Amino acid sequence: MNTIDLQAITIDKIKVPFSEKLKINLSILRLDKIHPIISGNKWFKLKYYIKEALTQHKKTIASFGGAFSNHIIATAAAAKLYNLKSIGIIRGEEPKKLSHTLQEAVSLGMKLYFISRINYSNKTLPNEIIEVIDEIYLINEGGYGLAGAVGASSISEISSFEKYSHIYCAVGTGTMLAGIIKSSSPHQKIIGISVLKNNLSIESEINQLLTDEEKTKDFQIIHDYSFGGYAKKNDELIEFMNEFYRQTKIPTDFVYTGKLLFAIFDLLKKNIFKSDDDILIIHSGGLQGNSSLAKDLLIF
Ligand SMILES: *Cc1c(COP(=O)(O)O)cnc(C)c1O
Repeated sequence: MNTIDLQAITIDKIKVPFSEKLKINLSILRLDKIHPIISGNKWFKLKYYIKEALTQHKKTIASFGGAFSNHIIATAAAAKLYNLKSIGIIRGEEPKKLSHTLQEAVSLGMKLYFISRINYSNKTLPNEIIEVIDEIYLINEGGYGLAGAVGASSISEISSFEKYSHIYCAVGTGTMLAGIIKSSSPHQKIIGISVLKNNLSIESEINQLLTDEEKTKDFQIIHDYSFGGYAKKNDELIEFMNEFYRQTKIPTDFVYTGKLLFAIFDLLKKNIFKSDDDILIIHSGGLQGNSSLAKDLLIF
């Protein structure tokens, strides 16, 4: 099993005719390079949960997710790295054939429990888990929580964030964005592209992870690029991801980073940036999720 390789992270310049003409500096922080399975931001969000589990002498970590969840697979991989057992509590009926993501999680030693959508939304645990709950360290769905945000704030330690005027990232639970806000400076604007449809409670969920002082920092969530909802896609998005790869050789995933980059390029077209803006885009990984797509859709 590969370890996490923080040395592999690079900041790449994105040079496309478009941004060159507008004199806008676009850079992308390649967190996708840290590990083939533990996707970029998930490691940063998990690290303090794992630490807490170890200090509490828990044997097992458990968390929640859907059949294609990057968080579930990252939890399985991170548990294995630290010799913890892992449990995935998965939304919906057990399918005849497990998704690629869940197969991978099982091969990393994760035990899966499938629960109905109703039990899932109430977070009602199966009895087998309740019986041994004292041995288990439970992590919220998507790693949402303060320890997750504090972990994500350490993303700034691996690159000098200070110099950028804008930082863009994709938003699911908002935990990563909250971490980036925590580590941002007063001159910076932090923008999150929400990948869920009309997830208007996200602002208050992010605010819950921030101190009063951090709440006054300059941040914004944009809701216009969900493409109809979580893990929804269309031809335009897929074509964009292919074209972006052709021009930059950077792969993106269709759930998070494809939508993030699509949004930034759309905003470039709409001229919302000023020349000499220095933009950092966080490539948060998630590439394993593309394995649920038909084989010939993406050129990478
Ligand atoms: C989970 C995930 C996100 C969203 O992170 P949140 O902290 O839940 O907002 C973004 N990008 C990728 C690739 C992810 O896997």
